[in-house]
Amino acid sequence: MTWNKGLSPEERERRSKAWKQYAERLSDKKIPEGGDFYDTGRWSYLRNRTLIKYGQKCQKCGFGGDSFNPLQVDHIKPRSTHPELQWEISNLQVLCKSCNKEKSNKNESDWRRW
Ligand SMILES: [Zn+2]
Repeated sequence: MTWNKGLSPEERERRSKAWKQYAERLSDKKIPEGGDFYDTGRWSYLRNRTLIKYGQKCQKCGFGGDSFNPLQVDHIKPRSTHPELQWEISNLQVLCKSCNKEKSNKNESDWRRW
């Protein structure tokens, strides 16, 4: 009987490993839970709508954005504390990078409530 001719045990082993690696690569493509929110199509759609709604300029300083200080769409109430508002356009604002940075610095030091 020559039913398995051409497929040595080594070759079968190699093919099964290659298949496993292939399957692992495929499963890597699954979107990790919340890991890449900003890569989702839904976010880029919402981001564009926000820029159209509020205009292509920083709502704090009026800057139009450039490659050194690009415009960013910011969550007014952060996703970490208000995940239910992450898709709400009313919770979004357009800020330039430097105003956005200023805002988060301020928020970090703004613990005076207690
Ligand atoms: Zn600004």
